[in-house]
Amino acid sequence: MQIIGLTMHRLKQRIKKALIPRNKLLVFNFHQSTPVFNSHKNDKYIWSDLEFFESQINYLKDNFEILRLDQAIRELRSGKLKRTMVSITFDDGDISVQDHVIPLLTKLNVPATFFINTSYLTTEQKGYWFNIYNYFNSDPEKRKKYLSEETKEIAGNLRNTNDPGYYLGNYKKIEVLSEFINKDTDFYLRLEFLKILNHELFTIGLHGHEHQRFSMMTKSWQKNDLLSNIEILSKFNIYTPIFAIPFGKPHDWNNDTLEVCKDLGLEVAFANGGYNVKNNFGILRIPVDGLDISRVLSSLHPFLKRYYY
Ligand SMILES: [Zn+2]
Repeated sequence: MQIIGLTMHRLKQRIKKALIPRNKLLVFNFHQSTPVFNSHKNDKYIWSDLEFFESQINYLKDNFEILRLDQAIRELRSGKLKRTMVSITFDDGDISVQDHVIPLLTKLNVPATFFINTSYLTTEQKGYWFNIYNYFNSDPEKRKKYLSEETKEIAGNLRNTNDPGYYLGNYKKIEVLSEFINKDTDFYLRLEFLKILNHELFTIGLHGHEHQRFSMMTKSWQKNDLLSNIEILSKFNIYTPIFAIPFGKPHDWNNDTLEVCKDLGLEVAFANGGYNVKNNFGILRIPVDGLDISRVLSSLHPFLKRYYY
């Protein structure tokens, strides 16, 4: 019976593989990459060791054609895709993008697209509840001094609550701690840095002015936030009108988000896995921070769930 079970498993794997189309776009999603993990700034779920990241990029370079996401979308929508193509994306505009990722991609001559939150590049605010909480929580002394039981509970709930009233009533209780962060601590790249990027290799897109869960916000908040994000980024010649939804999972956006994007003429990108074929709505991205991409590819599934209305 065991042998039959094993054969069935292999057969299923083969059928699954055969059903994955050859002509598709794979979009990989990263956040942070540094040579050394820094617990004040890095989170293990969104971080890649730089050397490992380089090996992953070389694997992609050896096996696929890599395009900037805006170029890849054009090919995808035109129906001209004749093979599997790859795009590399980074979310948030983390400081490591400026310090390590872009220098490395430039050296390797590999294109990429970066989704940027603009609020923290143009104000004193050091970031949003997730990175601010991690900054204090990663140091026992700071944790004791600044984090109350209430803030710990809030931090645990914000990521997954489905109650907009709770989210709106609480996220600022963590974000106000920004003023106690050392002024020299930089979490994000500098706006001026975007001016000097190679426009052949790199484009920048939207990730919200603030990094909030759009599903928790009113429609007018969502629109105004995106308008601020667009106003700042569209001044750069490497700007492309694609919005990678912050967090990017199905419970992080709603119908209002899609309507606002439609009104503003934006392409929408998710971060919930899956590959892209000609007619899918929006752009599906696969989160791969710290992961072995060849293994991720062997787990591609042809019956993926579609997360749109
Ligand atoms: Zn993000």
